[in-house]
Amino acid sequence: MKILIASPEIVPFAKTGGLADVTGALPKAIERLGEDVAAIMPKYKTVDEKKFGLEYTGKNIRVPISNRIEEARIYKGYINSQESGGRTGVPPVSRQSKIPIYFIEKNEYYDREYLYGTPQGDYPDNAERFIYFSRAVLEACKVIGFKPDIIHCNDWQTGMVPVYLKTLYKDDPFFKDTAAIFTVHNIGYQGLFWHFDMHLTNLGWDIFTPEGIEFYGKINILKGGIIYSDVITAVSKTYSLEIQTEEYGRGLDGVLRKRKDDLYGVINGIDYEEWNPETDKHLAARYSIDDLSGKWECKKDLLNIYGLTPSKEIPVIAAISRLDEQKGFDLITEVIADLMKLEFQFIFLGTGKEKYQKIFEDIGKKYPLKAGIKIGFDNALAHKIEAGADMFLMPSRYEPCGLNQLYSFKYGTIPIVRATGGLNDTVENYDPTLPRRAGEREGNGFKFSEYSSKELLSVIERAVDVYNDHIGWKELMNKAMGEDYSWGHSAREYVDLYRKAKEKKEHQSTR
Ligand code: ADP
Repeated sequence: MKILIASPEIVPFAKTGGLADVTGALPKAIERLGEDVAAIMPKYKTVDEKKFGLEYTGKNIRVPISNRIEEARIYKGYINSQESGGRTGVPPVSRQSKIPIYFIEKNEYYDREYLYGTPQGDYPDNAERFIYFSRAVLEACKVIGFKPDIIHCNDWQTGMVPVYLKTLYKDDPFFKDTAAIFTVHNIGYQGLFWHFDMHLTNLGWDIFTPEGIEFYGKINILKGGIIYSDVITAVSKTYSLEIQTEEYGRGLDGVLRKRKDDLYGVINGIDYEEWNPETDKHLAARYSIDDLSGKWECKKDLLNIYGLTPSKEIPVIAAISRLDEQKGFDLITEVIADLMKLEFQFIFLGTGKEKYQKIFEDIGKKYPLKAGIKIGFDNALAHKIEAGADMFLMPSRYEPCGLNQLYSFKYGTIPIVRATGGLNDTVENYDPTLPRRAGEREGNGFKFSEYSSKELLSVIERAVDVYNDHIGWKELMNKAMGEDYSWGHSAREYVDLYRKAKEKKEHQSTR
């Protein structure tokens, strides 16, 4: 099959969160399964032509938006894969597979400091930027001659692609065999805009209905993606069920329930080419499950960066996060005084909403000997934190999949998580009260259920206690480091779903 992965962010070119990791790794995993894959995204400021060896294809597109035609240039680069293969379930790869990735260059829209908005809020023209991008994806397919069987769309910024395929491009022979699959990475971001933006879509008011993209008087682009796609996925089994409930569905639970027969949960994999303590080039020392000595070097290096004093006896609990209500850090503020009485050091790296940035900066000022805080986005530091910390905290209100707990496993850094979404699916609670017989203490981390600061405090107390039990901790680290979340399995699930979508599309075309 010819598969095009459309995403608003893709590693290593641009990243604000896990979506970029996923859409950077998935194309490689799908190619390994023998499919013909390409990817497409906007050419932001971070997409440096020289650094990434991009080339202008010499091809331009002319995309209608409202009553104008806006031209964009198409660039081409590659997602490189160096892996030699052989991991669980993944057939060996040619050493240097190169997956083409196309970029839409439209500087008025994408050549900005941030991808979607500043810490003060979203860019006011996001509707225009991403309606344009969605239509540009289709126009780009034509000029580059990539006739996809599947366009795999990711999050609201690509939500108009399926809508256009079933409306303006429905009779276009180029897309006669093209099915759309839509992945919900986070239902909290829906692309909601006032109805005066309808003119940007060049679609009639007939789709501005509750059965179409209308949502309580507004345009809801994510809803469009869900309704008009052939197959829908969410990034974990639990999340695919949660979003069908009122509590987690953000108003779209009814729409999702209607499409439940076409809605699947596929857990994200992680890219062990990028996240592996045995090969990670960002670390002060490398280590493995068989020789953990390098982890202590990484801890010293990390605490040195944060100006804290390392000790083998004191665990480091870390968090790396977008700062948003979703991530659950309100819980910390309520019990910070009690937390800081416990014997651990806290390391934080994150950026996002000002309110939370301030909370963490205040913690740093108030507890300078116990807490190291950095506000910002720093990928190299994120790797150092994964390696140098002993535990990784994710108290999320909701978490579609979560990647950091999966990276943490590999780095022997034990996750402490709230049991929601993908965190619930991947973290097994370690219960020190069970007897230490084979199979009884199955856990790879610590979990709490109720969204409450009391529970958070108590799970952290528990984790710190277990840290002091050296045998127990080693047991936990072994279990965690042995987990395998490579893409092989999930990529197969996606390929099966691509086939399903393709069959659905063929069925529709012959009717
Ligand atoms: P989300 O996509 O909701 O932000 P995930 O856990 O799925 O959450 O993925 C977050 C990804 O972004 C991880 O790879 C994490 O390391 C990275 N990340 C988040 N914030 C930062 C930051 N400030 N600096 C570096 N990496 C970050």
